[in-house]
Amino acid sequence: MKKAGSGIVAAVIMALLAAPGGPAGLARADAPPGSGLVLVCLDPGHGGNDSGANYNGVQEKLVNLDIALRAKPIIEGMGYRVLMTRTDDSTLSLQERCDIANRANATIFVSIHNNAYMTDSEGTETFCYYNSEEGRRLATAVHRQVVRRIKLPDRGVKEAGFYVLKHTDMTSALVEGAFLTNPAEALLLQDPRFRQKIAEGVAAGINDFLMDP
Ligand code: ZN
Repeated sequence: MKKAGSGIVAAVIMALLAAPGGPAGLARADAPPGSGLVLVCLDPGHGGNDSGANYNGVQEKLVNLDIALRAKPIIEGMGYRVLMTRTDDSTLSLQERCDIANRANATIFVSIHNNAYMTDSEGTETFCYYNSEEGRRLATAVHRQVVRRIKLPDRGVKEAGFYVLKHTDMTSALVEGAFLTNPAEALLLQDPRFRQKIAEGVAAGINDFLMDP
């Protein structure tokens, strides 16, 4: 059904699209922090057909999503806009995640994951793309704040060629909160308060990065 007035709405949208700099709501990479124009893209790793790591009764895709959904309102409360690559348990390719961030001209991209390796592997590590100065700054800020809150062993900030780090056009980082393969850390990941701490750390780190241009 065509609603009366939709023509006017369309005209306003067209006017906004035609305005210099694009629609008023779109983020620009050079927007000052806290202005509301900064757009943070949060990417909860895996989802849908891809569960990610699956150990000790924890599915990575679900804890990643929960952490991201907890981080979203905290980051919004800091005055930034947040774009999620997914808000439910849907399947999304790596390229689709990059497309979402790139098309929206997001200011930064932060992918949220949890780790898997050996049963005695432990701690938090955060990644940036190779030789990315800004990526390292973002990854370091997020890493420090997450480690400060969850107090697991600090595995450091590392460089990697992960697809979403390579194919996003903006500064990006990927945080691996804890190890699902480690029974003690898997147990922590099942605790909503622990996931909230990771979310608060991600948000605080993003704010630290954006407030120190
Ligand atoms: Zn993962």
